[in-house]
Amino acid sequence: MHTIPRVILKPGRDQSVLNRHPWLFSGALSRVEGEAQDGDVVEVCDSRGQFLARGVLNRRSQIAVRLLSWEPGQAVDADLWRARLDASIRRRAALAADAGTDAYRLVHAEADGLPGLIVDRYAGWLVTQFLSLAAEQQQAVVVEHLAQQLALQGIFNRSDNEVRRKEGLPSSAGPLWGDPPPELVEIHEHGHRFLADLVSGHKTGFYLDQRENRQACAKYTSGAEVLNAFAYTGAFAVYAAAAGAPQVTNVDSSPAALQLAQRMLPLNGFGARPDEYHAANAFEWLRGCRDRGRQFDVIILDPPKFAASKSQVAAALRGYKDINLLGMKLLRPGGCLVTFSCSGAVGAELFQQVLFEAALDAGRGVQLVERLGQAADHPVLLTFPESQYLKGAVCRVE
Ligand code: SAH
Repeated sequence: MHTIPRVILKPGRDQSVLNRHPWLFSGALSRVEGEAQDGDVVEVCDSRGQFLARGVLNRRSQIAVRLLSWEPGQAVDADLWRARLDASIRRRAALAADAGTDAYRLVHAEADGLPGLIVDRYAGWLVTQFLSLAAEQQQAVVVEHLAQQLALQGIFNRSDNEVRRKEGLPSSAGPLWGDPPPELVEIHEHGHRFLADLVSGHKTGFYLDQRENRQACAKYTSGAEVLNAFAYTGAFAVYAAAAGAPQVTNVDSSPAALQLAQRMLPLNGFGARPDEYHAANAFEWLRGCRDRGRQFDVIILDPPKFAASKSQVAAALRGYKDINLLGMKLLRPGGCLVTFSCSGAVGAELFQQVLFEAALDAGRGVQLVERLGQAADHPVLLTFPESQYLKGAVCRVE
């Protein structure tokens, strides 16, 4: 029988593997026994040679092994990938059956047992990201299997994410199967209509992880003058308008995103309204409001990731504090701040601490009325805390 190369760990470096964390960092490796190329399946053993797990080797990455199995003898092969794809699809059965929603995450990488693989559904199209060598190697298997299991028009690859460089992989994008997507694909969330740019939009085209939070936010927007800061293509604005907000002001630094945002309210039947669209730095724009004394009833703050790693947390916290302090100051009494952080390195407690400090500086009493997270199609795997990245809060400001 073909023997699998073995990766032997340094003494005392097996805890993360025993905890079923799917990343094995290069510093934990003592040696590799047997002929092993990057991309090969290896058996991970403790310093005494005892089996711990199986995974895919990539010595070019700091994550030297992506672990896929902790069962002795379980094959880490195309069938395992197919079985896990099927399981991921089954877990989204309720979403797939929801007539009002046809855009959601089908595979959430490690959290679905498929390290580095993202698959997002946009109506008849899938958009993929292969963000690890382990996933990249299974590309043909993944594409063929998804095309077979789902009724699709096409599969488009957006592996143009820079994290691929850390895996020694080049950026790559383009159609993988079926028809290439049109310039804009119409999608639906909770019955609302949106246009998504799968080829050059942010992420895979849309911030699918905010779907449930847009719904949660809508509860506070009836009759409210809303500021939608970091609006991207205005998804929060559509929910707010549908819930009875007579005016939404959208601010984003990307003119292209705002151009698309301007089409979303009319697309949903909200024609002549006093909505505003400002291509600006949100920090400066909010300061301008403060100086002019402009106020709002609901303010949504959904900034990009301020901390990409632990070393950036301190600077990120200053950014979060600044923006939330401004937000709190601009709210009419009783108004709501709906605020988010998608920095994985900033935990929920730390984010709440920032809100506390902002409230103190703003000199206003603030109630935390709702805690928010990423949508259920972006599950958090308990053995992989890195899969928890999005946190949010609804705060009522007195
Ligand atoms: N709320 C959006 C997603 C926001 S993502 C949705 O539901 O779809 C973050 C957005 O912030 C991006 O669109 C990006 O263009 C924008 N952005 C980044 N830095 C910014 C800044 N300094 N000022 C304003 N917008 C910014």
